[in-house]
Amino acid sequence: MIFARKDLACCFSAKPYNMSLCHGDTQHSLENRKKFLGLSDIPHQDLVCAKQIHSNNIYKAEDTDKGRGALSYETAICDTDALITGERKLPLGIFTADCLPVFIYEPQVRVAAMVHAGWRSTKKLICQRVIKKMSDEFDADPERLLVGFGPAIRSCCYEVQDEFTRHFSYGLDKKDGKYYLDLARINIKQLLESGVKQDSIYDSGICTACPESAYFSFRRDGAGCGRMISVIMLK
Ligand SMILES: [Zn+2]
Repeated sequence: MIFARKDLACCFSAKPYNMSLCHGDTQHSLENRKKFLGLSDIPHQDLVCAKQIHSNNIYKAEDTDKGRGALSYETAICDTDALITGERKLPLGIFTADCLPVFIYEPQVRVAAMVHAGWRSTKKLICQRVIKKMSDEFDADPERLLVGFGPAIRSCCYEVQDEFTRHFSYGLDKKDGKYYLDLARINIKQLLESGVKQDSIYDSGICTACPESAYFSFRRDGAGCGRMISVIMLK
């Protein structure tokens, strides 16, 4: 559980249940979604999902989008890595297996966002763009935002090439001559720069790629692995 609140449903899944309709063994994905989301009273058939491309593109979901990507990948929203909505009972879903799922909620004006923050989207400041859109279009106040991080690859496991020093000026740990990327730390810095309060950021701290991890990891399991789903929904 990321935020335990009566006005919000949010959750992230774990192994071995693949939630993706386009990656890994998708045979049981719909059934997995139905069972898992049912535990949080989230109607799986109403999910709004995106065809994620590691961009910083954002989509504002309306009631008319209800169910896009819920029962087939083809109907999902194209070329998008962040979903925002002010609609109640409209669950937003993001799929990950190492990338950082970011839950964002503004409880006063009641707007929620679900963000897919891999390194490429993080480099493109995706969370800052989402917060700006929440402010511009919903009058959200960054100081009131609650932010949660689900499971993602952490710096213990995320060895990257030296060239990453060109992508990021901070968030790189050097150990034994190798660089390790700290995606969560970079996103926290960007959130603080956007005006989010440090105390309002909750990080699950879970590493997907550690050997005994109960989560799918693209890095550890390979490209054919399944995906977790992270969902946020205004009640
Ligand atoms: Zn790890």
